[in-house]
Amino acid sequence: MSFKELKLHPALLENCKELGYETATPIQAKAIPVAISGKDLLGIAKTGSGKTASFVLPILNQLLKDYAGEPSRQPKVLVLTPTRELAMQVTDVFKSLSQNLTRSIKSMAVYGGVSINPQMKAMYGVDILIATPGRLLDLQQSKAVDLYKVETLVLDEADKMLNLGFQKEMEQILDLLPKRRQNMLFSATLSKELEGLNNIVLSNPIVIEIADQKGKEEEELINMSGYFVSDDRKGPLLRHIIRKQEMKQVLVFASSGVKADKVAGKLFKNGIDAASIHGKKSQSARSNALRDFKSGELRVLVATDLISRGIDIDNLPYVINYELPRSPKDFVHRVGRTGRADAEGMAISFVTREETHHFKVILKKMKRYVDMIDSETLDFKP
Ligand code: AMP
Repeated sequence: MSFKELKLHPALLENCKELGYETATPIQAKAIPVAISGKDLLGIAKTGSGKTASFVLPILNQLLKDYAGEPSRQPKVLVLTPTRELAMQVTDVFKSLSQNLTRSIKSMAVYGGVSINPQMKAMYGVDILIATPGRLLDLQQSKAVDLYKVETLVLDEADKMLNLGFQKEMEQILDLLPKRRQNMLFSATLSKELEGLNNIVLSNPIVIEIADQKGKEEEELINMSGYFVSDDRKGPLLRHIIRKQEMKQVLVFASSGVKADKVAGKLFKNGIDAASIHGKKSQSARSNALRDFKSGELRVLVATDLISRGIDIDNLPYVINYELPRSPKDFVHRVGRTGRADAEGMAISFVTREETHHFKVILKKMKRYVDMIDSETLDFKP
């Protein structure tokens, strides 16, 4: 479907063209008309499906129609994300689609891990606020922002936003919002958390599910392989694979921040350019590592599951599970970083003998089969 058929403002059509968006993706074709109608919406679509623009475009379209009003600290749109990186990524989409509009629309991201003062100052005149929950509450408590005028609430990666970790903060935020508002929830999977809190956040939502059909196509684009390997041989195996397969850009997942640092440090010592990214790193280190990795400057990024949510990396060719995640859902998010936007990707998992059963459970959930390679048969120096 063309964007023109979606009845978007001509300036937005121009910006889509500028970004190379020729036709609307399935989630955009379905979600944009619902969003424009003002109804609540639950969109089930994976990152990579174009889901961000499916809420960004109708939101900008609506703001262009509204009376701009005096600049204030009262955003009309609030987008909540579980990670700082996702908040920045969503803000980039808002900013690139807000170029040269008939009135200027200000979007900004606020998140923790960086100084709060510049965010307080920059808040003046904000139309669209993209936030992680903790920092948003801090700003609200310091009266830097007033959420009373929010007309549209978006929860990106909604299943994560509504799970236990964020529950208290989410309840506080929902209490600060006007009761009459439009709600849009987006999630890669329809999970229990969503079903439960659905009733609190959404009223009579239109449910749009793209995941199944798109998921299949995407899965076909992800080639999977696995190695049986003992813990002490994982490091040498990782280096062997990266060198042998001449991998230029590879995202490696580890189970903890400490482990991610260790793996990255060992690679670096062995002449393979690598950095780590996890919740204990400073925000500037996180941002720099992700920027360098996305641009192709950094060869290996070793991450915890923090990064597996929502992050869009153009044509990422390789994901390696240095350690398996506990939940199959995290596995899906991890391997979903590759094999996107019609480009093939490879997801490689390191499995210890003790984890054989766990890996089988994960694969069963994904309805996939993987031929395992025994790393003992490979010739590399431990
Ligand atoms: P998302 O699922 O929102 O993370 O988007 C994934 C990628 O698809 C981003 O790099 C977008 O720039 C791109 N994208 C979004 N919509 C379109 C479209 N209609 N045509 C082409 N690319 C798009």
